[in-house]
Amino acid sequence: MPMNSQLQDLNDIRNAVRDVCKKYDGNYWRSLEKEGKYPEEFVTEMTALGWLSALIPSEYGGGGMSVTEASVILEEINRSGGDSAACHAQMYIMGVILRHGNSFQKQKYLPGIAAGDTRLQAFAVTEPDAGSETTRIQTTAKRSGDKYIINGQKIWISRVAQSDLMLLLARTTPYEELENKTEGLSVFVVDMRTAGTQIEVRPIDMTFNRHTNQLFFDNLEVPAENLIGEEGKGFRYIIDSWNAERILIAAEAIGDAKFFIDKASEYASSRIVFGRPIGANQGVQLPIAQAYAHTEAADLMRFDAAGKFDRGERCGAEANMAKFLAANAAWEAGNACLNTFGGYGFAKEYDIERKFRETRLFITAPVNNNLILAYIGQNVLKMPRSY
Ligand SMILES: Cc1cc2nc3c(=O)[nH]c(=O)nc-3n(C[C@H](O)[C@H](O)[C@H](O)COP(=O)(O)OP(=O)(O)OC[C@H]3O[C@@H](n4cnc5c(N)ncnc54)[C@H](O)[C@@H]3O)c2cc1C
Repeated sequence: MPMNSQLQDLNDIRNAVRDVCKKYDGNYWRSLEKEGKYPEEFVTEMTALGWLSALIPSEYGGGGMSVTEASVILEEINRSGGDSAACHAQMYIMGVILRHGNSFQKQKYLPGIAAGDTRLQAFAVTEPDAGSETTRIQTTAKRSGDKYIINGQKIWISRVAQSDLMLLLARTTPYEELENKTEGLSVFVVDMRTAGTQIEVRPIDMTFNRHTNQLFFDNLEVPAENLIGEEGKGFRYIIDSWNAERILIAAEAIGDAKFFIDKASEYASSRIVFGRPIGANQGVQLPIAQAYAHTEAADLMRFDAAGKFDRGERCGAEANMAKFLAANAAWEAGNACLNTFGGYGFAKEYDIERKFRETRLFITAPVNNNLILAYIGQNVLKMPRSY
């Protein structure tokens, strides 16, 4: 857990983010969902206040914060009943440029992202025929003079229409020619403002108000100077970004879990049926208490992982376990909350069914909890590999 002085700083962040979130209540998020709109006003205000550039070093105009601090920002958005998904990506995707870009690329992109003039909140990795097996992606990037020509397709790519820039993972060496199957993939910055019709964007109608798409690339030209790092090392670069992402996702799930637990415990204490508060019945009370215990345990793992990440220590196991535990705790808390509210839980005005749908995603994406267990089984416990 953080030390006392750090806890004070984290509390200051919590209070400041809560103040912003108060202006964007359940009505705001519900009306967006009704119209399928992006939370433009909320993202603009969070950006202007510098919260979304938290992880960009101060030399590029960002907040220079730790992952521990950044995770608290996202947690508070969800705890307030908002949806952190619109903020999460702008915060961390730039990490690939920060860690692996050259100095020209960092100077070109990071100050604009920090100032909020440039939105980089789309990262195109997943493909229909590869799914979780990223090393099998088939979208190609072929070098032609001072350009790469991109062809192929992606699926489930979020916030494309809301981004000026998108990171793209594409194949630069055919799979069959590789000895090491984790090589041969490369990361590019794609400027969506100039991509034109060479990228077709087809929105996918989803369970929740996420702006997720199928993408088709038809001879898209990307300048060779937009290649991040070395050609063929792209998979390594995205793996490097996974630990930070998992810690942030864990914090977001914990924010959801706390939202559900607050709502459920308040309602269980005030709703009278059979002449007493429903929370006096153990069938109602104990599932909420159990979800709370699991949330607190997940939170300890989240702070352990974040602390190790910030100190530059190895944290793959902890980051994965934090995401796994937090996603499960949030789903458990969501179920307990929905049960507590009875029929009212399904009425949109209580925001519980909306958050219930949103929180379920954490078990599935950005990485499925199954694959986290496989990682723990294979890499931590050294059991035989399933893939
Ligand atoms: C709302 C949403 C937004 C998304 N945004 C993005 C985005 O912006 N960019 C992006 O690149 N991707 C994005 N994704 C994709 C997401 O990361 C993928 O859904 C995820 O990687 C899994 O791929 P898949 O859906 O093809 O599942 P599959 O790989 O087909 O897996 C299906 C099921 O099989 C299980 N499974 C597969 N292999 C194993 C194994 N070896 N052991 C145990 N179980 C296994 C999985 O755990 C899962 O339960 C998004 C997805 C959603 C739903």
